[in-house]
Amino acid sequence: MLDWNEPRSPSLPSPADTTGLGSIDRSGGRVSVDEKAMINCRADVNQLLPLKYKWAWEKYLAACNNHWMPTEVSMQADIALWKSRDGLTEDERRMVKRNLGFFAASESLVANNIVLAIYRHLTNPECRQYLLRQAFEEAVHTHTFQYIVESLGLDEGELFNMYREIPSITDKAAWALRHTQGIENPSFTTGTPEADQAFLRDLIAFYVVFEGMWFYTGFAQILALGRRNKMVGIAEQYQYILRDESIHLNFGIDVINQIRIENPHLWTAAFQEEVRQMLREAAELEAAYGRDTMPRGFLGLNAALCEQYMHFIANRRCAQLGLTFVFPEAENPFPWMSEAMDLKKEKNFFETRVIDYQSGGALAWD
Ligand code: MN
Ligand code: FE
Repeated sequence: MLDWNEPRSPSLPSPADTTGLGSIDRSGGRVSVDEKAMINCRADVNQLLPLKYKWAWEKYLAACNNHWMPTEVSMQADIALWKSRDGLTEDERRMVKRNLGFFAASESLVANNIVLAIYRHLTNPECRQYLLRQAFEEAVHTHTFQYIVESLGLDEGELFNMYREIPSITDKAAWALRHTQGIENPSFTTGTPEADQAFLRDLIAFYVVFEGMWFYTGFAQILALGRRNKMVGIAEQYQYILRDESIHLNFGIDVINQIRIENPHLWTAAFQEEVRQMLREAAELEAAYGRDTMPRGFLGLNAALCEQYMHFIANRRCAQLGLTFVFPEAENPFPWMSEAMDLKKEKNFFETRVIDYQSGGALAWD
């Protein structure tokens, strides 16, 4: 019996189920590779195979090879140094605490964004497989900050409230959250150019700005200490985080570029200019954080150099997204950072670490 109260025109099929939570389409047919798409694709029950985006699957495999836990890193030397009266200057302590406070909140914001916003709208199973792994890594990173705070006996309330109480940290969190709020709304769906651009803005805010720009100053601050043999446990943990984050960043860049290729109408001149403006704002917010965490220079770091570093990094992100630079060509003020981070060397870094570092122990059955 037809239900005349809910007319259904055959020329207007019900909107594609992009979440994967819709009813199973018994007559839908098997998914072929050509039908797979990054956004606005019928997700139905997610069909991982056949793979379309090998880059996403490879990042998932690389991430699994990089498994680590913060508790495997000894904190003894850090505890001794932190508790010693003159092991660290007041400026160094201020930077360490604010850096930890920034990361402690940021890892949760990134995790929330993946789970509550990005996952739902990215309609490809290979990419979702990577997102599931990334979400776990963000939990490991959050665990790292819990472990550091507990090991050093830091004030939990102070550290975990910095995102509310330290304006330069609040400003960054609030800037990124603005982009998540719209698409996290349950009534938000992709499928119009405006909505799809809002989704791209969120990907840019989190993968390119948060993980791809702001985290890098944070890494530089702690690795600068590590290079001088200070807080070596935290520095080692940051290297593991950095290794994870550079895959997060590169995954995000690939996702954005793939969406661009499949939806060239979204990548208008006006939208490109908007993205460039986002990177400019992000660099400004980071400069404020640099001045706040390092009112005076130390260990070869200072706020002005961090600002220059942000310009250098922002230009690199532009190049990765096919955008023209946002800042006059800037030299990398921290060449020692590029040793760990340049893409080619990053690759070598992964290879050596993956060989050196076997995840987990082999299971013994006897
Ligand atoms: Mn992380
Ligand atoms: Fe991340």
